[in-house]
Amino acid sequence: MKFNIAIDGPAGAGKSTIAKLIAKKKSYIYVDTGAMYRAMALYFLEEGIRADEPDKISEASKKVDITIQYENGEQIVLLNGRNVNGLIRTEEVGNMASASSVNKDVREKLVELQRALAAKENVVMDGRDIGTTVLPNANVKIYLTASSKVRAKRRYEELMAKGERCNLDEIEKDIIDRDYRDMHRDISPLKQAEDAILLDSSEMTIEEVADAVIALCDKVGSK
Ligand code: C5P
Repeated sequence: MKFNIAIDGPAGAGKSTIAKLIAKKKSYIYVDTGAMYRAMALYFLEEGIRADEPDKISEASKKVDITIQYENGEQIVLLNGRNVNGLIRTEEVGNMASASSVNKDVREKLVELQRALAAKENVVMDGRDIGTTVLPNANVKIYLTASSKVRAKRRYEELMAKGERCNLDEIEKDIIDRDYRDMHRDISPLKQAEDAILLDSSEMTIEEVADAVIALCDKVGSK
C-alpha cells in the first residue's frame, strides 16, 4: 500500500509550496493536479474554444493526451507530447482551467490519471477534490486555506517576481470568483472532506505548515 497525502484548498492558499516541501522532506512524489487542468485549458484556448462551449470542451477533452513526467523531482506536464510547464501559469489559463474543470468529461479523464499515479507511488497530491473524490482513502487529508487578501497578495508577488504586470485588486477579485466557481460546481466542488484537518496558513510560515502536516503523517505511521 502506498502512502497518500491529499491537500485541498482554494487558489493561493500555499498548497503547492507546502506539498513540494513535504514531498522533498519525505522523498514522495508531488502531484500537482491543477497543472493538469491548466494543460487541458491551454489546449482549449489554443483550439479557440470558449468557456461557454461545453460540447466543444467535452469533444476536445477526448482528443487531448495529458501525461506527467518527473525531471529532477519536478513535475513536467506533457500536452500531446509537448512540455507546457512554461505556458500554464498565466491568469488567462487559470481562469479557463477553473471554467472548464466543471466539465464531467474533463474531470473523469484527469481523475483517472491522478488515481493511477497515487496507486503506484507515495504521493503528496494537491488540488480541490483530492480528499473528497480522487483519493477518498488517503492516509492524511489537509484542507489548507488563508484569507482572500493574503492569497491575493501571494499571487501578486509571485506574478511580479516573474515580471508579469498585474493589479492586486483584480487578482483578489479573480481569486474570489474562481473560488466561488470551484465551490459551487455540480461535480466534485471544492469543500473540506469530513475527515480532513483544517489548516489556515494566513498567519503561519511555510515551515510551520509543513511541520504540522508531517506531524500528522508520523501520527498515522508514514514511512
Ligand atoms: O490550483 P490551480 O490554480 O493550478 O488550479 C487551476 C484550476 O483547476 C482551479 O481553479 C480549479 O478550477 C481546477 N482544479 C480542479 N480540481 C483539481 C485541481 C484544480 O477543479 N483537483
